[in-house]
Amino acid sequence: MKILVADDNDAFRLLLGNRLQELGHAVTLASDGAEAAERLANASFDILISDWMMPHLDGPSLCRHIRSQGGLDYLYIILVTSKCGEHDYRDGISAGADDFMNKPFEPEHLEARLHAAARMLALHKELRELALHDRLTGLLNRGAIVDGLNQEIHRSAREGIGLAIFLVDVDHFKEVNDTHGHAVGDLVLQEAAKRMLSSFRPYDRVGRYGGEEFLLVAPCASARQATMLAERIRRVMAERPIPLGENDIPVTVSVGVVATRAEDAVDPQALIAIADAALYRAKHAGRNRIEVVNHFPKSGRGGVRRAVG
Ligand code: GH3
Ligand code: MG
Ligand code: MG
Repeated sequence: MKILVADDNDAFRLLLGNRLQELGHAVTLASDGAEAAERLANASFDILISDWMMPHLDGPSLCRHIRSQGGLDYLYIILVTSKCGEHDYRDGISAGADDFMNKPFEPEHLEARLHAAARMLALHKELRELALHDRLTGLLNRGAIVDGLNQEIHRSAREGIGLAIFLVDVDHFKEVNDTHGHAVGDLVLQEAAKRMLSSFRPYDRVGRYGGEEFLLVAPCASARQATMLAERIRRVMAERPIPLGENDIPVTVSVGVVATRAEDAVDPQALIAIADAALYRAKHAGRNRIEVVNHFPKSGRGGVRRAVG
């Protein structure tokens, strides 16, 4: 595990750091609370072992600072103190610590606490996976992909880079269910998810927005680039049928796209609505098509580009 040790006592810090390294952990040392806060802002850690009394920022204040930041990754905090009365214990826990350790520490006690921490962190990771991902396809679920879109909108506004939003809907999917059954329909959705992931870059975001509808978000410099990406998604679905047992099931998708550079505080739902209207047009134009809205501020806001599959 990645462990940050914060203690102003040089000898104790080194002793604890060495012991943790002997146990196979990656250790970073900070000589007070402020330095620890700085390290935490620039790298991710699994565990913080922090002294209670430190200059600049003491242990409980550091805990409060960390917990006020929120964030998806849980940092497990062990406070170290030489006098651990009942009062201290309550204050430390309410400041955000998970556990305590006395100074000087017994090596077995340290190991036991690290086991408890590993168990808690594994559970937290499992819960987070469940909370963010769709069970059938393994893609991001609706809440997580909309959150991801929101983050990309902020990044776009901050860094002045474009982004594209793709709403992808499987064509006549009800017929797949009606003809082959719901279980085969599920397998088709799983394969569709795999193909969509394969046509995107790892840092793009791919989510299941609803039943047979997917939402994808990617940084994108121009409507032309968005058109190429959308066309790649359309093609990866249409070019070969999905082989399932005896059946080869041909599957196509329609894609509604909006390419834009976000200004501050654009509502993700407003962009999704534009992509949805484009998807609707692609369906009406015959399906197995893409429809791209160029929403870049300078190059003709609201202009529509079409590409037909
Ligand atoms: P269109 O080309 O207009 O999109 O037609 P469609 O048949 O794909 O659209 P419609 O909305 O009529 O039907 C979508 C179907 O998707 C209906 C629903 O039962 C099915 N569906 C939604 N979620 C799941 C799922 O998780 N598994 C399976 N097997 N089917 C699902
Ligand atoms: Mg559909
Ligand atoms: Mg649909």
